[in-house]
Amino acid sequence: MAKSDNLKSYRKKRRFNKTSEPKAHSSTSKKTTSRRQRFVIQEHDASSHHFDFRIEVDGVFKSWAVPKGLSTDPREKRLAVAVEDHPLEYGNFEGVIPEGEYGAGTVIVWDRGIYRNITENDDGERLDMDAAMKKGHVHLLLRGKKLKGGWSLIHSKMRGDSKNWLLVKSKDDHADARRNPVKSQPKSVKSGKTVKQVAGSAKE
Ligand code: MN
Repeated sequence: MAKSDNLKSYRKKRRFNKTSEPKAHSSTSKKTTSRRQRFVIQEHDASSHHFDFRIEVDGVFKSWAVPKGLSTDPREKRLAVAVEDHPLEYGNFEGVIPEGEYGAGTVIVWDRGIYRNITENDDGERLDMDAAMKKGHVHLLLRGKKLKGGWSLIHSKMRGDSKNWLLVKSKDDHADARRNPVKSQPKSVKSGKTVKQVAGSAKE
């Protein structure tokens, strides 16, 4: 989990004299004790367009690339592919990653806020994130600007690919099959700009 990866692959993939993405200072590697952690969802218009879902765990952002973004419809299962841990500073990053660099394209802060891990075992006891991730079924409560309420992250063992998870909205007061925030709320919660506007202003 957080410690085994520890931002090494984040650094390896990037040339910090070329990209304006934050350098990864060493993770605090503190065991998470607070129940209120940050989450961020960054829209990333790269060679393939996706949304990066990141949750703060033990001093880093555990991260998944979600091709279609998160849905507020509990019947929609969205593929979420685990990617390398990101430094917490990354949560503020918005801008253009230059051509030829890893992840070349435009990034905006599509949503952010705090979350709580409310995963329980079969006996109804709370599990910490390590245990929840190992169990392969993480129950999260998000409080963002756009997204609120419960989501499940379910590890998919299909086809033996351990990187594949599914993200599914819980059936709660915030579930809404008609809302389609990925389409209807495209603006950054940081700058108010869309990816196209951020890409455009970088060219000026
Ligand atoms: Mn990405």
